[in-house]
Amino acid sequence: MDRPRILVIGSSNTDLTVRLPRLPSPGETVLGGQLMTAAGGKGANQAVAAARAGGEVTFLGRVGRDAYGAAALDGLRAEGIDVGRVVVDDEAPSGVALIFVGAEGENMIAVAGGANERLTPADLDAARGCFAQADVVLLQLETPLAAVEHAVRLAAEEGVRVILNPAPAQPLPDDLLAGVAVLTPNEHELALLSGRKVADETALADAARALRDGGARAVVVTLGDRGVWLASDDADSLVPTQPVAAVDTVGAGDAFNGALAVAISEGRPLADAVRFANAAAAVSVTRHGAQPSAPTREEIERQLAASE
Ligand code: AMP
Repeated sequence: MDRPRILVIGSSNTDLTVRLPRLPSPGETVLGGQLMTAAGGKGANQAVAAARAGGEVTFLGRVGRDAYGAAALDGLRAEGIDVGRVVVDDEAPSGVALIFVGAEGENMIAVAGGANERLTPADLDAARGCFAQADVVLLQLETPLAAVEHAVRLAAEEGVRVILNPAPAQPLPDDLLAGVAVLTPNEHELALLSGRKVADETALADAARALRDGGARAVVVTLGDRGVWLASDDADSLVPTQPVAAVDTVGAGDAFNGALAVAISEGRPLADAVRFANAAAAVSVTRHGAQPSAPTREEIERQLAASE
């Protein structure tokens, strides 16, 4: 079987994390930090997750003409991801997240989106052939909304399904959801997008239904260790996940979305695709980091078999 083709459009960042004895107050300098550098950005993270899950992945985004951008693209290439259409921006630097982590694990994060914030509809037009070849287009919200909207439009014109992970949470234009096959908010994003509190399962179901009424064909709400709420033509139900010894949930959503895109491209029914994605995310939370923790196909299959 040909590998499913996933087009991931989104952000690429370099995460510069400094572990400190404690977080600084404004104006204060705290010494004794340890630096860790890691590739990040929801777009790049999800591209890596999809590639490891078995997808043939093309990543589309913008990086700066600098060492961080070059390293980020090298990292994606090493995963077998096609980065030939990534735009290298001569004016803006590559995206960087500065993360301070205190002794208790508390954190402060500052993001300089840089080139990510300059992804344009024209960049996507220039890569139109990638849409025609894709089985699924996977999007998030760390690049400008105009680009996200245009990606949804191009996917519709090419008859390609769109998965939108609406993270980080922000209001969406009214007509955007009509072009989305599967929307994958977490509870916080669901509350913001639906304008409702999601205090219990009834409220969760109502809020997911409201987003379907708004145009999304299916809504998959990720619920951390409780698994997923699935709302589609065939289901309105909880899909629990297998309990695991979680050590770091950073990147769980990205592992979930990358794997979901692969499973949907393979033609699995949505409930099965969600179980596959749950298994991928469960493996990812047993390990540290975002990109490093994304599991291989073999690891996902093993986790899936253990949960049946
Ligand atoms: P979240 O973004 O935290 O809702 O997590 C996304 C997905 O990761 C969830 O839907 C689960 O499939 C998985 N996940 C997150 N946290 C855990 C956990 N502690 N144990 C198992 N799976 C988890």
